[in-house]
Amino acid sequence: MPEPRGRMFFANPGPTNIPDSVLHACAHPSIDFNDDAFFAVYERCVAGLKRVLRTEHHIFFYTASGHGAWEASMANLFSPGDALLVIETGHFSDSWAKMGRALGLAIETVPADWREGARIADIEAALAADRSHRIKAVCAVHNETATGTVLPLAEVRAAMDAARHPALLLADTISSLASLPFEMDRWGVDVVVGGSQKGLMLPTGFAFNAVSPKAMEAHRRSRLPRHYFDWSEMLTRRHKSFIGTIPTGLFYGLQESLRLLEEEGLENVWARHSRLARAVRAAIAHWSGNGRGPELFCRNPERVSDSVSAILMPEGHDADALRATCRQRFHISLGGGLSRLAGRVFRIGHLGDLNEPMILGTLAGVEMALKLNGVPYRPGGVEAAMECLTSGAAG
Ligand code: PLP
Repeated sequence: MPEPRGRMFFANPGPTNIPDSVLHACAHPSIDFNDDAFFAVYERCVAGLKRVLRTEHHIFFYTASGHGAWEASMANLFSPGDALLVIETGHFSDSWAKMGRALGLAIETVPADWREGARIADIEAALAADRSHRIKAVCAVHNETATGTVLPLAEVRAAMDAARHPALLLADTISSLASLPFEMDRWGVDVVVGGSQKGLMLPTGFAFNAVSPKAMEAHRRSRLPRHYFDWSEMLTRRHKSFIGTIPTGLFYGLQESLRLLEEEGLENVWARHSRLARAVRAAIAHWSGNGRGPELFCRNPERVSDSVSAILMPEGHDADALRATCRQRFHISLGGGLSRLAGRVFRIGHLGDLNEPMILGTLAGVEMALKLNGVPYRPGGVEAAMECLTSGAAG
């Protein structure tokens, strides 16, 4: 098969599209990571990432994907048998909980309907019931990439304060960072889990934790075994981060992606994500308008995600067959359904380096694939998206 012409429309919710200037910046010749020239780049990157996270706290980096930052957040903070409260959001909260159990932690969950999102009152009640303060941390996935739902972290913090509970707040920002509003310090987040390959528009390869002073105190008391991820060990190094070779190319790329984000302005980046997300949701709502078509998986309008939409197929229609048509006929890559949503859901990632025509091209490909695959839908979703992007509400 010849290579298809034109660029692939890459609509996965991570990794995401990499701007050309970031790709070029990553292609930097090797440099000793202790070279002063690289150290200056590294320090600029740390300062820039702190502005994106809206934090003054320290950031520890690892050469790893997001899973590494999940593991580091647990291995550095807790001792065997410590209890954590994981707020159920979907596949990714389940996976983080599974990792905690594997590390010897006692995981409790706030159960939730994946289509509605966890109730804040349930979080407060679970913490209020923990009178002896066994629970050491609340683990919250800010944006559940598998379901396209958001957890309002400021409300989670308010529930913790209302219950007068001293637990740490750990927030996974992997698919919300530099896409959705996020305020580490103002929202009282103690540890951020983040990665390179989504809102930061970089290749996969580094992950990080930003850590509050309160979390650093917990770290000093914690006894879980760790070595590669050990924050205390990292603080003895020149970069006060990383154990082992630093992926220097990714930092040249990060320097450029931070420049792009700051040139656009973080609030404008958030607004662009919101505008494109509303267009995607307008198309989905239109397709489902015949009462039998594909529908938005998230049923709670207050929790819909502006970085990814999960779309539930009508009963008896295979989401992966639709994705295969998009991939093979139109050179469009969509995300698939994860764990219990496999085959039932496909996902349009609308985060990172995206604009209106890229979104409309993806929606047009999906609409053609719906037709080709014999899925019942109401035609005209792309027009609905265009209307959304050009009407007063587009913002
Ligand atoms: N958390 C969330 C919300 C994610 O979306 C992902 C991956 O998509 C992860 C954690 C795991 O990150 P990684 O695949 O980079 O290890």
